[in-house]
Amino acid sequence: MPVYVNPNVCNGCNGAAQPPCIRMCPGDLIVKDLLTDKAYLKYPEDCWDCLPCVKSCPEEAIDFYLSYQMGFKNASLKPHIPKTRDHIVWESIDTHGKKETFTIRTKILDIEIDEKVEGSTPADFSI
Ligand code: SF4
Ligand code: SF4
Repeated sequence: MPVYVNPNVCNGCNGAAQPPCIRMCPGDLIVKDLLTDKAYLKYPEDCWDCLPCVKSCPEEAIDFYLSYQMGFKNASLKPHIPKTRDHIVWESIDTHGKKETFTIRTKILDIEIDEKVEGSTPADFSI
């Protein structure tokens, strides 16, 4: 099941041409709508749920639902990343609404959020 960029949460990384979600997708499946400055998954049929887009989005704007075999839209798995970006708290909700969390340490990459935009804000990525 492909990921979904929530347009109500995505802020386009404030005009960045190459926001984390676009840069991190190994399949180049995410693009930006230049009119709305929102990202979206242009090629959902090619998404293989590898999730660096989800983990790198600073706004937690990308939703990920487990496959229907594991609960479809009633179940979800969402990462919450603190400002230190040194770990991810994965929040799992099963088909009955039971919530569990798992904390995983991350590797921090010190790269620019958008190298192509002059004056862009430096940011750490967690993967
Ligand atoms: S990284 Fe998140 S907030 Fe930034 S453009 Fe992508 S989906 Fe939107
Ligand atoms: S889950 Fe993986 S393949 Fe799918 S859009 Fe995100 S980074 Fe790309």
